[in-house]
Amino acid sequence: MDTTITIALAGNPNAGKTTLFNHLTGARQHVGNYPGITVEQKEGWCLHQDRSLRVVDLPGTYSLTAYSVEELVARDFLVNEKPDVVVDVVDASNLERNLYLSCQFLELGVPMVIALNMVDVAEKRGITIHAEKLSERLGVPIIPIVARSGRGVNLLLDAVLSVAAAQTRPQPAFLRYGSDVDEALSDMMPLIRECRELTAIYPERWIGVKLLENDEQIDQKAIAANPTAAAKLKERCEAVVNHLQNTLGVYPEAVIADHRYGYIKSIMHQGVITRKYVADRLYASDKIDKIVTHRFLGPLIMAGVLFGLYTFTFSYSTVLVDWLAKFFALLNQGIDTLLSDGPVKSMITSGVVDGVGGVLGFVPIIMFMFFGIAVLEDSGYLARVAFMMDRIFHFFGLHGSSVMPFIVSGGIAGGCAVPGVMATRTLRSPKERLATLLTVPFMNCGAKLPVLTLLIGTFFSDHQARYMFLATLAAWIVALCAAKFLRMTVLRGASTPFVMELPPYRFPTLKGLMIHTWERTWQYIKKAGTVILGISILLWAMMTYPGLPDERVQQYEQQRQQAMATFAPAAGKEGARTEESTATGTPELNKALQQIKAQEAMERLKNSIGGRIGLACEGISRYAGIDWRTNIALLGGFAAKEVIISTLGTAYSLGDVDPENAASLNERLAKDPGWNPVVALAVLVFIMFYAPCFVTVICIAKEAGSWKWAAFSMGFNTLFAYIMAVAVYQIGALLYL
Ligand code: GDP
Ligand code: MG
Repeated sequence: MDTTITIALAGNPNAGKTTLFNHLTGARQHVGNYPGITVEQKEGWCLHQDRSLRVVDLPGTYSLTAYSVEELVARDFLVNEKPDVVVDVVDASNLERNLYLSCQFLELGVPMVIALNMVDVAEKRGITIHAEKLSERLGVPIIPIVARSGRGVNLLLDAVLSVAAAQTRPQPAFLRYGSDVDEALSDMMPLIRECRELTAIYPERWIGVKLLENDEQIDQKAIAANPTAAAKLKERCEAVVNHLQNTLGVYPEAVIADHRYGYIKSIMHQGVITRKYVADRLYASDKIDKIVTHRFLGPLIMAGVLFGLYTFTFSYSTVLVDWLAKFFALLNQGIDTLLSDGPVKSMITSGVVDGVGGVLGFVPIIMFMFFGIAVLEDSGYLARVAFMMDRIFHFFGLHGSSVMPFIVSGGIAGGCAVPGVMATRTLRSPKERLATLLTVPFMNCGAKLPVLTLLIGTFFSDHQARYMFLATLAAWIVALCAAKFLRMTVLRGASTPFVMELPPYRFPTLKGLMIHTWERTWQYIKKAGTVILGISILLWAMMTYPGLPDERVQQYEQQRQQAMATFAPAAGKEGARTEESTATGTPELNKALQQIKAQEAMERLKNSIGGRIGLACEGISRYAGIDWRTNIALLGGFAAKEVIISTLGTAYSLGDVDPENAASLNERLAKDPGWNPVVALAVLVFIMFYAPCFVTVICIAKEAGSWKWAAFSMGFNTLFAYIMAVAVYQIGALLYL
């Protein structure tokens, strides 16, 4: 064992590197210059546990950007000479600022030990740093030392040797820099991989960060490695620069730096440091945090803020929602008068306008909600919410950052799983992220609400509020337990400690808010215009074709003639069987015609593809008390939950049922022999928990990076919902029927 271990002393100026260097090497040192520049190069050696250590004292820097010669020298040494261990000398009396550089070493993925120097100074100021806790959070050994007296230095060298003995180099730390920068980085990755000479020496993501920071050295190297890829990378970087300039008025460097500081701040908030004297001046952000994340006040404020968000969303968006509903009703009326009866008109009104309109009807709510969330996010409050909720979520194998996706998806009732799934991007650990995005669809989204309202209003009208509250509670319990289950089975793995950025509070700019709101709303609208449009038409076709055989149509025609002959001999002469003629007939005739019409519609539906599927599924759904007509509606719910009501309406032969005004369907269900409170409860449970709507499924596939998880989500949720519904129905039937 006579190979020499190289250790590099790095850190901020005045952190005590040279003092430590002198203590280690004593007289065994020589001073030179780095070739061509005036930066001093100090090198020496020492022995520890019979190993010889080559010690290099790097110039002090605050950062690893390429803005100064010192920074370049330090960086090049770390990357090119690959020291076995980097000893990051940190001034304990000035921890937060010093950790900024440590954070960059972590991002570079160098094997390192932190020498927590000047603990004597810190102690004198009444500052105690809990090194083990800090070490656990950062994932590197941290040894408190006093370089001037040599206290702790032997322990430091022990740690250095054990890090040097490790076979693998550590993974570069994965920091998040906010959605704009993160998205750019993931776009850039494939291009960066094409610059092989670069990726051979630097971590991929780090290269991306440097390019965004406009690092000249890396820029040059990228051009040398692959000019075409470099040009494309430059283009992507410029796009982010422009976007950030427009929304926040800052450069990527500032955003990245902010997130690094946020990362450190969040670690500092977790009891790694205790101060005897509160005399230390607090920054404004810290002062606000004292109240906002207070043990008792914090949750109260949070509840108030969330309540405010919902009030804001629902009270101000209703006007627009009403307008949109009126607009689509008018549109349908217009089409009704313009086109003659037939499949085209039926497709446009029932398929296109009702289907897409139903989805677009939610746009105002979504827009207001996103605006509110953008305010909370841009101001920095959202990170505090996550911080407070972390402990509860941790228990269920999730993370503090899972809170917002849950709330966005309908955690307080009314929301949408699509932005909820997209909001999981703030989660760092892939398993926690998957567990979150697979369970957010259990929340009661805005599309499920009308259905819940209908069923609860019809069968449990005495306890409406109570059942609504229970439904919300049940959604949370099921989602959290499902997450726990997933984390104990398919997504097993350690949970990550809460190291999320706690950015400083900032006043959001109106322009930034508008752009953020619009970006997300547009994503939703795009989906309504593409996926939902296609599916509505498909569904309409499934419930319309193949229609009835001619003989049956004729038989119904005969029945109609007969009815007209018996009830209204005079009007019958006209021979007209249009809507207008029934309007002028006697009440008896109207009733008879209506019955015939309903029967015909029912038979047509039964004969349609959708009806046949519904009937086929009845064999299984029967155990949950669900009949074939409800099956068709549930099938429609796969496309979008808001389809359930209109499909139920059609399936129960009522023609169009306006989701906003389900009174007629209400009565119909209450009177139907196939329905009772137990069935309603089973259907309710099934709707709450079965497969997420198609748009959500697509989002899950996109966010999880594979269709496998999307398929899993559909299968898992549907099976779970089915088991729950069967249990509810069977137990309910035993007790009450
Ligand atoms: P460098 O810029 O990182 O090389 O820092 P130096 O080694 O030059 O140290 C800066 C100052 O801090 C010097 O005055 C040192 O004597 C002092 N210093 C270094 N380590 C300690 C320590 O552990 N405790 C105390 N009290 N002072 C220290
Ligand atoms: Mg020095």
